Amino acid sequence: MILASPSDFVPASRPESVRWQQALKEAIRDPARLCRMLELPDEVARHAAGAAEQFALFAPRGYVARMRKGDPHDPLLRQVLPLDEELRPQTGFTSDPLAEESATRSPGLLQKYRGRALLVTTGVCAVHCRYCFRRHFPYAEAPKSLDDWGPALQQIAADETLEEVILSGGDPLVLSDAWLAKLAQRLAAISHVQRLRIHTRLPIVLPQRVDGALLSWLVGTRLAPIVVVHANHPAEIDGAVSASLQRLAGGGATVLNQSVLLRGVNDIVEALAELSRRLFAARTLPYYLHQLDRVAGAAHFEVPASRGWQLVEQLRDELPGYLVPRYVQELPGEFAKLPVQRSGD
Ligand SMILES: *Cc1c(COP(=O)(O)O)cnc(C)c1O
Ligand code: SF4
Repeated sequence: MILASPSDFVPASRPESVRWQQALKEAIRDPARLCRMLELPDEVARHAAGAAEQFALFAPRGYVARMRKGDPHDPLLRQVLPLDEELRPQTGFTSDPLAEESATRSPGLLQKYRGRALLVTTGVCAVHCRYCFRRHFPYAEAPKSLDDWGPALQQIAADETLEEVILSGGDPLVLSDAWLAKLAQRLAAISHVQRLRIHTRLPIVLPQRVDGALLSWLVGTRLAPIVVVHANHPAEIDGAVSASLQRLAGGGATVLNQSVLLRGVNDIVEALAELSRRLFAARTLPYYLHQLDRVAGAAHFEVPASRGWQLVEQLRDELPGYLVPRYVQELPGEFAKLPVQRSGD
């Protein structure tokens, strides 16, 4: 094993205290560095190089600090570590599994379901999840400045059936609060829009993002704020993350969690049950447990639907109904995310 450079050792207390923009800059992007920090053999990094070229490693230090040292199977590490397996083509796994290109109503605006539309605000995320269904999304086509969002906002204004606007990405919370505040105001000026939903992983991977500046625009308009975070494993929810979720809830947002069912990460009932418990303790309810979207490069994460059902039934045995997430799947062309078929393979 190579000796780590001194900068690889960050006291556990530091990551949560640096400002979030700085923490993003300091995120780990080099597999060899990640392996040194976690005291993993160099060969783990060597097996990451090829896949990292296609979709780079990106993980904030505070998130890495929650991983177990010396364990190549750590459930948080598995979510971010590039692997050779990603490069093996698998039939049925494609670059646009959800046919999102056909759901685009104007640049950056996706609508698949009645009453709600989704703005793809940015392609940037605070973490690169290896199983991400948008890892091949053509983000360059989405508008950049707020002025460029004119057509999307006009489209929302022209459609009175749209009650809810979802900010998604990428991750909308990598954008500045000044920009997000303006966008929230523009949306609040459209009288038929009632709810503003944010799909984000930042409160989980970079909990310091949930600060006063964020809360002030999030709860500062007439729109009802909903934050849907994304955690897959209980070890992702440490004290700082729990505090960030409680700040959101305490500020007046409805806070929900969605997870993806992932082989080797959360495909055991203990992990899912403990995740629900920790979320609840942080005033967050489980919303969806997603069957993996069949995106190229993610085949090794797939859990068969029969096993997924078994897990959900075990959860029902163990937890109150409100702590059991809805086990769903997104199928192109459907009117909603649908319950996973029981008879599925
Ligand atoms: C997932 C998704 C939604 C949200 O669906 P809900 O069932 O309301 O959570 C909305 N729009 C698009 C395009 C989506 O992919
Ligand atoms: S945070 Fe969400 S959009 Fe970003 S890489 Fe992870 S799953 Fe994909």
